Amino acid sequence: MILGGLKKNFPYPEKFCPYCNKPLIAINAIHSAENLHNFKVLYFDNNIDCPAYDEGARLAYARIYYSSQEAYNAFYNVEIPVQRWSQEYLYSIYK
Ligand SMILES: [Zn+2]
Repeated sequence: MILGGLKKNFPYPEKFCPYCNKPLIAINAIHSAENLHNFKVLYFDNNIDCPAYDEGARLAYARIYYSSQEAYNAFYNVEIPVQRWSQEYLYSIYK
């Protein structure tokens, strides 16, 4: 079973934008109900000064992280809902 959404106070690994080196923001995640440490998390870079950021084109740096090979196997084809932009658009660019 899959649990959707970020878990409060969960120690998501810190990730940094490769373009501007700012910390990325975890915006959504899915976890395995059997083991919360198997998860997939989506990060966004919210830095508008980032060289990869383009509001007009609705592009910003984003990345998906899997906590383990097991998490990858379970979640690679499970999409994470994204509110900021359309999911289809995001996933066509950042997989
Ligand atoms: Zn950046």
